[in-house]
Amino acid sequence: MADAVFRVQSHKFTQDNIQATLVCSKCDEVFSKEFLLDLEGQTTEFKCPVCSVIGEADLPYKTAEEREEFDDDLDEVEEENNDEFDEEY
Ligand SMILES: [Zn+2]
Repeated sequence: MADAVFRVQSHKFTQDNIQATLVCSKCDEVFSKEFLLDLEGQTTEFKCPVCSVIGEADLPYKTAEEREEFDDDLDEVEEENNDEFDEEY
C-alpha cells in the first residue's frame, strides 16, 4: 500500500520517456523523475527520492498536440518493428 501521493506538477513527453516534476504529499518536496512511455496514463508506485516514502503517481496521457508532434517518427519506428517481428515469429 502506498503511504503518499505524488502529484504531477508538470510533465513533458520526449521520444524516450515521460519527464515529470512531482510533489510528494509526505515531505512536500518537489523532485523530477523520468518514466517509461509505457506508463502513460497509468498509476505507478515508487519511492520518494527525498524522504523514501512509498507513494503513487498518476501519470498523464499525451495530449493530441503532443501526439501529432511525434506521429511521423512513430510511423517509421512501427514499420521497422513489424519487420523485426515477422522475422522472429
Ligand atoms: Zn517525500
